[in-house]
Amino acid sequence: MEVTQTTIPRTSARSGWLASLEKAAPFLALGLAALAFPLLGDSYWGVIVTRACVYWVLVAGLNMVVGFAGQIAIGWVGLLTLGAYTTSAMTAGTAMPEVSPYLALVAAAAIGALFGLIVGLPALRLRTFYFAMATLGFSTIVTQVALAWKSVTGGGIGVAGPVFGWPFTGNWGFYYFCLLIAALCTWMTINIAGSRFGRALVAIRDAEVAAEASGIAKSQLLMTVFLFSGALAGVAGGLFSSLQSYITPDAFTFDLSVLFFIAILIGGRGSVLGPLLGALLLTALPEVAAPLVAWSTFLYAALLLAIVLAVPGGIADLLDFKNRRPLERHREVVPRPEMLTRLLGGEGSVLSLANVVLSFGGVRAIDGLDLDVRPGEVHGLIGPNGSGKTTTLNVISGYYAPQSGSVRLGDAVLPPGAARVRASHRIARTFQTPRVIGGASVLDNVKIGGTIDGHGSFVEAMLTLPRHRRDEAVLRERALLALSAVGLESLADVRADRLQHSELRFVEIARALMLAPSILLLDEPAAGLSAEEIRRLGALIKSISRAGTSVLLVEHHADLIFDICDRVTVLNLGKVLAAGTPDEIRSHREVVSAYLGA
Ligand code: ADP
Ligand code: MG
Repeated sequence: MEVTQTTIPRTSARSGWLASLEKAAPFLALGLAALAFPLLGDSYWGVIVTRACVYWVLVAGLNMVVGFAGQIAIGWVGLLTLGAYTTSAMTAGTAMPEVSPYLALVAAAAIGALFGLIVGLPALRLRTFYFAMATLGFSTIVTQVALAWKSVTGGGIGVAGPVFGWPFTGNWGFYYFCLLIAALCTWMTINIAGSRFGRALVAIRDAEVAAEASGIAKSQLLMTVFLFSGALAGVAGGLFSSLQSYITPDAFTFDLSVLFFIAILIGGRGSVLGPLLGALLLTALPEVAAPLVAWSTFLYAALLLAIVLAVPGGIADLLDFKNRRPLERHREVVPRPEMLTRLLGGEGSVLSLANVVLSFGGVRAIDGLDLDVRPGEVHGLIGPNGSGKTTTLNVISGYYAPQSGSVRLGDAVLPPGAARVRASHRIARTFQTPRVIGGASVLDNVKIGGTIDGHGSFVEAMLTLPRHRRDEAVLRERALLALSAVGLESLADVRADRLQHSELRFVEIARALMLAPSILLLDEPAAGLSAEEIRRLGALIKSISRAGTSVLLVEHHADLIFDICDRVTVLNLGKVLAAGTPDEIRSHREVVSAYLGA
């Protein structure tokens, strides 16, 4: 029998072709202008626009590494150099019989991909500046090798660049060739950016712990992106050497490497359009400023400084008109728990901790803890500050490996540590301080939670093949469901850093629900919420448990605990002080004196 029809409001997050067109419009406009550019017949500017296309091929790929994944890769010119010499040496026949420039370009892509991976590998271990230094070291080595390997590269004298023949002959033919590749790169990176892979990269950048809890495989994803970025840099190198017509090692300056990096920064991290405009701007600017010869470098630097200081979010932020519309001031989060049945469900399993011990140095944070959370219940975990509640959640979700004891979900023993595999066991969590991606929309934040349920590969996403499109459709539908369940669907398109603290807590819950978790771990979800919000949160949590997801709730608000929990465990100094129903706990003498107060 159909009781009530629950629908997701269609107006909340704009979908369909209108939204796609709005997103595509600036790219289409740029593309049309670029197509028509040769009509101007200016060959001087023709070279500059060709150069912009070549730079963009590299920057588009680097953008995935720097702008999306947040890795400080400043020495990417090394890959440009490699691609340039690979193409030149193969077409000039200095190392082996001559090949067609088109074939050489494919080889440059392969070499670029390989070395992109090699340069990128340190990023899996080294942090920020150390990785930056590694990329810089790499570019220096490549230049030195190019200088020394005279028989192939011509050393300081150089080697001729390839000339691309039919069908892209002549200067304008070459321009159209570069434009075609640049357009292809733009299309591919837009596709990646809008896929679960692009969102996962940004999650690694801005909320690494949450990414891990969502099951995102950081190393694997970064390696894929380094391969991709390296291949594009190799191709850019091949085109660059043709544009230069003759290359020597001093064509590949550190300034060029900085230009690539800065184009992304002033363009805005996590955007494709911004860095595209950034690359155009930085290529054209020295030419525009050329008449003021002595001033050009100064103007260039001043503009950079102005942009970085005035708009830290870059060009993309300037163009983000949607997020400048004021939000309603007095917003209320009104969850709609009736949506949960369409999102959750499935067999619950017992989560059981047996004799878990974890010490930090001399502190026994957990001291022989036994805990069972049964399917479909709300289990409260309370205790004074420092009693080991958060640590217990961290052991369950794999951030800490206990020194002894076991954690099981149903029949499966959960491997100690190994936070990333928890998502595949359908264990979801929220954090004591919300971990969300401020620069991404609320909807995208929620979609992160469903990352592991996608089927399409990176390449399928890049080429927007059917399996990827199905993934996205499912993710979108589930994310909208999750958002309406927690009562945030009207904010789906808003950038998350514009939300209030209390709303972020509900965003995190929505993200966790995307896993259709078997158990949901909540760490003080009521902190910072108003009394009315706490009441609604309580009703939501209760409904979540009734829809088939058991909940382990760490909370300080005693009222909330006693209202909604089926059972409660009280911790003290890492040990169970008492366990039982709320009524039993409320009248437990030791608990009352130690924790609840008289
Ligand atoms: P709760 O969440 O119940 O307030 P925690 O689980 O955060 O308590 O902490 C339990 C004990 O373990 C505290 O004494 C705390 O100082 C200690 N502790 C927690 N995490 C760490 C850590 N990473 N390193 C050292 N000590 C820690
Ligand atoms: Mg805590």
